[in-house]
Amino acid sequence: MPTIELKTQVPGPRSVALWERRQASVARGLTTLHPIFLERGSGASVTDVDGNRLLDLTGGIGALNVGHARPEIAQAIYEQAQKLTHSAIQVTAYEPYVALCEKLCAIAPIDGPKKAFLVTTGTEAVENAVKLARASTGRAGVVVFEHAFHGRSLGALSFTSRARPYKVGFGPFLPEVYRLPYPTFYRQGLTSEVALEASRVRIAEFFRTVVAPEQVACLIIEPVLGEGGFLTPPPGFLEHLREVTQQHGIALVIDEVQSGFCRSGRMFAVEHARIQPDLICLAKSLAGGMPLGAVVGRAAIMDSAEPGALGGTYAGNPVACVAALEAIAIMEREDLAGRARQLGEHLRAKLEAMRERQPLIGDVRGLGAMLAIELVKDRETRAPATEETARIVALARGRGLLILPTGTYGNVLRFLVPLTVELEQVDEALAVLEGAIALA
Ligand code: PMP
Repeated sequence: MPTIELKTQVPGPRSVALWERRQASVARGLTTLHPIFLERGSGASVTDVDGNRLLDLTGGIGALNVGHARPEIAQAIYEQAQKLTHSAIQVTAYEPYVALCEKLCAIAPIDGPKKAFLVTTGTEAVENAVKLARASTGRAGVVVFEHAFHGRSLGALSFTSRARPYKVGFGPFLPEVYRLPYPTFYRQGLTSEVALEASRVRIAEFFRTVVAPEQVACLIIEPVLGEGGFLTPPPGFLEHLREVTQQHGIALVIDEVQSGFCRSGRMFAVEHARIQPDLICLAKSLAGGMPLGAVVGRAAIMDSAEPGALGGTYAGNPVACVAALEAIAIMEREDLAGRARQLGEHLRAKLEAMRERQPLIGDVRGLGAMLAIELVKDRETRAPATEETARIVALARGRGLLILPTGTYGNVLRFLVPLTVELEQVDEALAVLEGAIALA
């Protein structure tokens, strides 16, 4: 039984009518990729207001690893909301906050004493990690990477590395932020060994010519670039960063906001590198679709802020906390990390085969189920097929498939499908996708 079932054109008349209201009342800077209005979701499918059932490869930008509207999470939310929706953790406490911090400390891949604290978004997780690293080291410098995305607040935007559309017109940004190239070896046309060696040389040079390491509080990196195009660094790169940061007393902050919670085939993507970071930033799939973020890490750093220095009215809201506890329980109970590995292998094999047939596909890459294809006009020059990608997204939508581009050039199609997706649904999605690629 196919999942996709279309009753009208997509978008249908109801979505079109709602879109007009949206355009009149919502600020222009907030764009919506797919001009359709959803009514409900289940697993990897969504139903729009015109009754069309679509397959969703976007998963709320990676926030729905456990699937849309999980009944167990809905039940936990309902039960908690009947008892206590909010009290502000700075004012009075409630057990789900503590239970979730305990759980995050238990699953974080760091040995020794750990602590956690909760926020509402990934942006705040990153900003607070930087605050903690600065407080604990007494240093100001923050080292980030080109093509990185760490959020849209003014602090986090200073760490994000995309001028358009995210930063244009919003500066000035924070001083003391330094940027290193992310070893994007496919675009550079390098092998991973050459890219690793070049990165080692670049980092050594950077600490001589750009900023002295003893002035750097932290280095923040996504173990797989999310908005930057699902690029993984060459094997050995994260290990090298760990060595260098350790040597200079720099906190290594891993941003797992997009790569975390089983997407990569492990609970956290950094576990593939077998290194232990100092701080980890979490959000998105943490709470199965509820707004929640967290920082977890070494107790000495986590405790470096003065009492009262951390918080937020809704940070660690009790309803979001019970959703997160249930989401993590589902990940463990259903072995979603194992499921992501299986899904990733299936997807990768099918996408590699599709690459043989479709010259537009320049690269198939990623980690576990955090997979993507890069579309290029020419495999030799790797010129980004940005317009073709936009056409594919629109064509696929018209046929009932929702997919989300990424990458600095907007020419990468990423798979953030809920990890609970059925393999038949994956095949259905890929058939639609290939049809759209062939027409683009
Ligand atoms: N870090 C990464 C790696 C992200 O992918 C994102 C969101 N795309 C953020 C931080 C910001 O998270 P949020 O949108 O929840 O603030």
